[in-house]
Amino acid sequence: MKRLLLLGGGHAHVHVLKQLADQTVDGVEVVLLTPAERQVYSGMLPGWIAGHYQVEECVIPLRPLAARASVRFVESAAVNLDLQQNRVTAADGQTVDFDLLSIDTGSVTHFGGLRGASEHAVAIRPIETFIDRLVELKRAMSEGRIKNVAVIGAGAGGVEIAMALQHAVTIGTWDVTLHLVSAANTLPGSVAPKIAAALERARVKLYLGVAANSVEDGGITLVDGTRIASDFTIVALGAAAAQWPKNAGLACDAGGYIRVNHFLQSVSHTHVFAAGDCASMEGLSRPKSGVYAVRAGPPLATNLRRALTGKPLEAYTPQSRSLYLISTGGKHAIGSWGGLAWQGDWVWRWKDRIDRAFIAKYRLRANT
Ligand SMILES: Cc1cc2nc3c(=O)[nH]c(=O)nc-3n(C[C@H](O)[C@H](O)[C@H](O)COP(=O)(O)OP(=O)(O)OC[C@H]3O[C@@H](n4cnc5c(N)ncnc54)[C@H](O)[C@@H]3O)c2cc1C
Repeated sequence: MKRLLLLGGGHAHVHVLKQLADQTVDGVEVVLLTPAERQVYSGMLPGWIAGHYQVEECVIPLRPLAARASVRFVESAAVNLDLQQNRVTAADGQTVDFDLLSIDTGSVTHFGGLRGASEHAVAIRPIETFIDRLVELKRAMSEGRIKNVAVIGAGAGGVEIAMALQHAVTIGTWDVTLHLVSAANTLPGSVAPKIAAALERARVKLYLGVAANSVEDGGITLVDGTRIASDFTIVALGAAAAQWPKNAGLACDAGGYIRVNHFLQSVSHTHVFAAGDCASMEGLSRPKSGVYAVRAGPPLATNLRRALTGKPLEAYTPQSRSLYLISTGGKHAIGSWGGLAWQGDWVWRWKDRIDRAFIAKYRLRANT
């Protein structure tokens, strides 16, 4: 009996689980090791913050999906990978041995050297912790205990979170000011002017072109000395790589992400596969985004099955462009594809249909 260990219940692995539920691989035991019973779909998180969704609508329950695929579910996080013994040690002390390993553990918070951030700010990852902190934030805002909220980082994630919070503030008629700080002079992509207009309409205070230097209790200080009052500071500075894959001896790129070939296979260890944010494909530069993690699911499932059954692997090249849909707080969104851009309530409804369809695909498989 061979053992396939799936590390992380990320976007690519939910597809692997679905494929295994459709067709098991004879003579193979599969184990899923991941720290939470559910996978949050980050694309819907701003909609939850704005109040358009219940949190349960934005998650894929992993335990039933694993059960349907006859996969053993272990609820913990990997803290150590031993590639001599082919053994993973989890945070709760359990060890799981494997013959074939697939890693889809995402990325970790990037604090960007921001002083005081780990003590005085809330990170957007891990997303489960972020959700808990936002529940507390909403309660504190509704009780008038918080007057200023700052988001550091105006990439797509930071922008969406700021506008979603502003929408919740408006609906709740709470007396709270939203601040959005970015070191860059511009907002993301070809849709920057549309995003700037949406932020202005939402009355989010925007500080462009000045990096935050430090986070303190009650505020943040920018590198030019400007001080912004903030009772609750969110750091949305993008992704960073977890340390343990590099520590284990897996070949990693300069950012610490696992280097994989076009088969999604580690370039240093052929019995290790990786997909999603944690992986970096040789010779290609792609953003760390859910779109790419989702797209990697089918080729990863195919190649894990082929590796287990001794068949040649199939090459995969991620698309060079992707559709981006950025919600602006209310049921309105901005979309872009390459240099093209649109916006409207219809864009939000389109995004809503895509997001709900993604969740339903994996939820249905778990319940049928
Ligand atoms: C607030 C926010 C909003 C975003 N909005 C969008 C968006 O609108 N569109 C978009 O394309 N992208 C968005 N992103 C980025 C997107 O979430 C990531 O690119 C995507 O989640 C990557 O998928 P993944 O499968 O690689 O990892 P993840 O979705 O992060 O999944 C990783 C899984 O591994 C588990 N795990 C983590 N560490 C370990 C460990 N040590 N051992 C075992 N398991 C572990 C986690 O619990 C999780 O189940 C957003 C990100 C955030 C934080």
